[in-house]
Amino acid sequence: MKDIKSMTLAELTQEFTTDLGEPKFRAGQVYAWLHRGARSFDEMTNLSKPLREKLAQRYTLPFPTVARRLESQKDGTIKYLWRLTDGNCVESVLMRYHHGNTVCISSEVGCPMGCAFCASTLGGLVRRLTPAEMLDQVLFTQLDSGLPISNIVLMGIGEPLDNYDTVLRFLQLVNSPEGMNIGMRHISLSTCGLVDRIDRLAEENLQLTLSVSLHAPTDEVRSRIMPVNKKYPVDTLLAACRRYFEKTGRRISFEYAMIRDVNDTPEMAQLLMKKLRGIAAHVNLIPLNEVAESPLKPSLPETVRAFQQTLEQHGIPATVRRTLGSDINASCGQLRRKFERENGRM
Ligand code: SAH
Repeated sequence: MKDIKSMTLAELTQEFTTDLGEPKFRAGQVYAWLHRGARSFDEMTNLSKPLREKLAQRYTLPFPTVARRLESQKDGTIKYLWRLTDGNCVESVLMRYHHGNTVCISSEVGCPMGCAFCASTLGGLVRRLTPAEMLDQVLFTQLDSGLPISNIVLMGIGEPLDNYDTVLRFLQLVNSPEGMNIGMRHISLSTCGLVDRIDRLAEENLQLTLSVSLHAPTDEVRSRIMPVNKKYPVDTLLAACRRYFEKTGRRISFEYAMIRDVNDTPEMAQLLMKKLRGIAAHVNLIPLNEVAESPLKPSLPETVRAFQQTLEQHGIPATVRRTLGSDINASCGQLRRKFERENGRM
């Protein structure tokens, strides 16, 4: 059986008008229900009972449930742990910025990339999400919190470009005017640097913001903390970033987690500056979030500030990411691990 919420309106319309012999507007009605978060065909009260039964026989309509919900007392950040229909869990985080409510969503259960500082990858990849499971994180975060979502970041558990076709379909769904209608310019996608996929994404020419998790300017350091660098070294990655900008005209945002005595020295700042010269870039400095299983420590605040100043002085815009939800373990991957351990799944 097909998962109906992973289908585009065009696909749904096609099946309704041919296989089901229904008029085109019925597909539109169903699509609207799905994208408002309907949990069953029986909720779709403007359809006849026989049609609802026919749909239930033909399509599946899975939806996640809230396994845990943590709300920060400091800044209102809400972290959701969703239980999927097969029992696996993923996290989303709702952050309340001045420019709008932003939800950070996961693209995979676990992650295959193996970054040394990241909690999401500790158990490897369990499975990739479906388009509907990605959409549901946005939809049900909005429904549960009662807060309208205007921005999305694909920076939760998983590597979005490792689940490429699904992510593209998700973007199409969440962007559709008949659905949540969230503009591409309000969406950021973060990658550890899968160069072949960055080139493919450039061809799609989307107006989203590409974030690249750089974290080090040299192959020596980057390969030590990010295994993906052995396949796609720094210069190869930055060349792809240049191509991406040429093709899309979109400035790239580089993520740089500041790790004490690993990538935060003045020499590293100098090297980074040189590497980014000529790239339309913005650097996001993020003090490392400590992960219990890892010996890596965050840089000291004064080190972060000095690093930022070096970049800024040489014309590279750099901001220090404000930490939200620090009282609720808001950085992704940690809540899922804790929950699975408590429930004996890890
Ligand atoms: N796989 C994608 C997206 C998920 S991670 C990627 O690698 O970009 C989102 C961001 O959080 C990435 O920049 C990632 O490197 C960073 N990150 C992961 N663990 C972190 C930690 N413990 N502290 C700070 N940033 C971390």
